[in-house]
Amino acid sequence: MQKPVLLVALGGNALIRKGQEGTLTQQFQNLAVPIRQIARLSATHKIIITHGNAPQVGSLLLQQESCPSVAKLPLEILVAQTQGWIGYMIESTLDSHLMELGIPFHPIVSLISYVVVDPKDPAFSAPTKPIGPIYKRKKDAPSGYPIIQTPKGYRRAVVSPRPVTIVEKREIKRLIEEDFIVICCGGGGIPVIREGRAFSGVDAVIDKDLASAKLAEEVGVDIFVIATDVPGAALDFSTEQARFLKKVTLKKAEQYLVAGQFPAGSMGPKVDACIRFLKNNGKRAMITSIDAIEKALEGKAGTQFIGLVGH
Ligand code: ADP
Ligand code: MG
Repeated sequence: MQKPVLLVALGGNALIRKGQEGTLTQQFQNLAVPIRQIARLSATHKIIITHGNAPQVGSLLLQQESCPSVAKLPLEILVAQTQGWIGYMIESTLDSHLMELGIPFHPIVSLISYVVVDPKDPAFSAPTKPIGPIYKRKKDAPSGYPIIQTPKGYRRAVVSPRPVTIVEKREIKRLIEEDFIVICCGGGGIPVIREGRAFSGVDAVIDKDLASAKLAEEVGVDIFVIATDVPGAALDFSTEQARFLKKVTLKKAEQYLVAGQFPAGSMGPKVDACIRFLKNNGKRAMITSIDAIEKALEGKAGTQFIGLVGH
């Protein structure tokens, strides 16, 4: 029997937990939590892993801005750097866990991936995507760039256009057919626009959840798991009435999204991505915490999205 294709989208907390300094040792320890589960799941699923880069790409920006004697690189290059950085960390951690499980030769590859965006996307007119360090007070954030308020605190914001197509979709499909574990679309992919027959990078960060939904649509994915730092999608989040949704139908999820229950730049794109995935013939979609990926797949954790056919 064909193994189902499982896409796991890892959030920023896969590497750095809230309140941590984020040393490399901490990052590798944190990463072991989802990767151990994914290693076990690879016995029964074909695996694609995508990941965010908001803390990392923001740190790279700060690093280069603090060194005026070195030429500044645009965001597109910094996103590419985070794909190499995080791709290496995921790949090497996964390799170790597969070895521990006695599956030493499972092929894994991290792909530099770029994603086409529309230069006319209205998202270019306002920054919505929070990146980099989180500041408790607005006045603590460095001046000179847009700052937005998020449930976690104040953060720098950059523009975040929608993904139109994943440039390496054919390559990814081929690799999955060959049973490679593929790490791709890191940080939402390197944003590029098409100019005639050429691609050129743009100064933006694509949301990794929306890029993952696009990837799923173009490559063919059966199950989509978004792993983050909360147990699932909640109603009235940040209030005393907050309640996590165990199950939600597509219709209800759309209504809550329109009603503003899930903000842009965090939970909004996750819910949007799950809706899109199921509408494009995906079988199962869920949002869960990073330590409960396997439990969510068993239907015992997270927010499960009920598609048109139900399950
Ligand atoms: P990731 O790095 O996993 O993509 P994000 O910060 O982008 O994480 O999104 C997860 C965050 O969304 C949570 O930590 C939470 O603060 C925020 N959030 C906002 N609204 C909601 C909601 N309705 N339900 C759950 N989490 C929410
Ligand atoms: Mg996010």
